[in-house]
Amino acid sequence: MVIDVLERGDLLFPRSLPEFQRMFPNEAACAAYLERARWGDGFVCDHCGSPGEPYRFANRPGVCRCRHCNRDASLTAGTVMERTHTPLSV
Ligand SMILES: [Zn+2]
Repeated sequence: MVIDVLERGDLLFPRSLPEFQRMFPNEAACAAYLERARWGDGFVCDHCGSPGEPYRFANRPGVCRCRHCNRDASLTAGTVMERTHTPLSV
């Protein structure tokens, strides 16, 4: 999956490190941005295709759990960040 945020009018893109640090002060801010990039029209389950607001976990900002099938969709699945434990903000 390729998501080009530069072509997305609804997503600001940081132009400098200070700007980056303002936009992404913590993991939750990173996760919210990735979520908008991935599911701009709202969450859709990767597994069963159901739309709707997913469950979220405060201690796992990269994970959305489908309320329909109870499976987890990772914000980083299919990206270079998929199997890393490096924080999103890094
Ligand atoms: Zn589902």
